[in-house]
Amino acid sequence: MSTDAVLPQLLEEWEPVIGLEIHVQLGSVSKAFSSSATTFGEPPNSLTDPLVLGMPGTLPVYNQRAAELAVALGVATSSKIRARSRFARKHYFYPDLPKGYQITQSDEPLCEEGTLDVLMGTQRMAIRLQRIHLEEDAGKSSHHGTVSHVDLNRAGVPLVEVVTAPELHSAEEAAEFMRSLHRLVRWLGISDGDMEKGQMRCDANVSVRRRGEDRLGTRTELKNINSFRFVQNAIDNEIVRQIRLLETGERVLRETRLWDATANASFPMRSKEEANDYRYFPDPDLPPLLIDGPMMARVMQTLPTLPGPRFERYREWGITGDDARTLIGERALSDYFEAAIAALPSVGCNAVAHAKAVGNWLLTTLLGALNRDGKSIAESPFPATALAAIVGLIEGGTISGKIAKDVFDEAYQTGAEPAAIVAAKGLVQISNPAELLPIISRLLVENPKQIEAYRNGNEKMLGYFVGKVMKATDGKANPQVLNDLLRKALVPA
Ligand code: ADP
Ligand code: MG
Repeated sequence: MSTDAVLPQLLEEWEPVIGLEIHVQLGSVSKAFSSSATTFGEPPNSLTDPLVLGMPGTLPVYNQRAAELAVALGVATSSKIRARSRFARKHYFYPDLPKGYQITQSDEPLCEEGTLDVLMGTQRMAIRLQRIHLEEDAGKSSHHGTVSHVDLNRAGVPLVEVVTAPELHSAEEAAEFMRSLHRLVRWLGISDGDMEKGQMRCDANVSVRRRGEDRLGTRTELKNINSFRFVQNAIDNEIVRQIRLLETGERVLRETRLWDATANASFPMRSKEEANDYRYFPDPDLPPLLIDGPMMARVMQTLPTLPGPRFERYREWGITGDDARTLIGERALSDYFEAAIAALPSVGCNAVAHAKAVGNWLLTTLLGALNRDGKSIAESPFPATALAAIVGLIEGGTISGKIAKDVFDEAYQTGAEPAAIVAAKGLVQISNPAELLPIISRLLVENPKQIEAYRNGNEKMLGYFVGKVMKATDGKANPQVLNDLLRKALVPA
């Protein structure tokens, strides 16, 4: 039976507990401790230097830009930020690590005790973070039969490791945590978070316990789960595996397991008993990392409004949870939306009352057109002020929603102002009954059968007449006014 089928029943008695360790590549131009570039996709081993290669006599200097990016994440997660944090050496032997140790932070990490604002579906939840620390990436090994290759382009690239408290309780929550972190790092501009390029990588610690039990169960650590879908599959799979072991009286072994997405299964990699002794000690080549007042001030000054508070505000404006979630999916989209809302008063609209209309136009009509053209919101040829103008024209009763679509198409194609298009083409809708009544009177004379049908209870006939009037007015009749007039006219006096 598949995991999906058995899990709900197992979860009646068992509670999963998950803690994530997520590595995010910081988007600095140069490496963490040396000046080589961090560019992706260059020829193997073209981005190295004596420090990355572990040459004797080389000395590391921490990248100030990377520190600033990490501090931004710390501030955005309300973490305690150490004014003076320490680098440590973590020793292990592997071909992709020429120095023989990785520079990381152990006892005195940059950030502690933060929280990440996670959007679980359309519900906000604060998930506690144990720490966010700085480290450098290792190189990349690839194995081809009996030959192995090492590419050190990635070695020394600056990373942050975000470690959560063990308080996620399902694979879905873990995946939502990852999505929220992904959204935040992109929002802050500290990383593209491109998982296909390895810019965001997740290890998941998973245990289960009987419901009502306070103590944590023995956990395993799943390595190498590098897509939102894999996170979910891998964790669900592990939860079921552990519950089955415990229900048959066996033990969960404290081990590291490797997720194999192709096999849709995990395999033991190493047990805790064989675990490396990393012999951590403070790196004698590196002074403490100092986060001074001016750097904090710079970070605070450039910190944008975060997605969580914006989500909340959109909900207050009457936007649905799903739409609000889409609107904060990307900062450029949310900024566009905010700019359109800010422009509403200048077209005679109340910002809050018409936010929902702006949201609908943005998410359906504009995104539809951009998708069709393979453009991102940042490349939109249709500015936010024009979107506000369209909504203003509709809400102010100048044009109907249907005409507005045509105006949009033209404005999108030509860059002309919506109001100018309406004026030039005479698209102003007809709301004056005196103009509509003669047309209606003529139709009543010409269509006795249809009137009869309507009067005998065939409500659909109303649509027939609406269509006729629309045709006669090139679609310019105000639908609301027209409906009222028709209803009155069709009922016998
Ligand atoms: P390590 O030193 O092995 O990395 P940590 O104590 O730093 O272990 O924890 C690493 C991660 O494991 C954290 O995200 C933490 O929340 C999670 N974790 C710890 N214990 C458990 C457990 N029993 N079940 C699930 N996750 C756990
Ligand atoms: Mg760890």
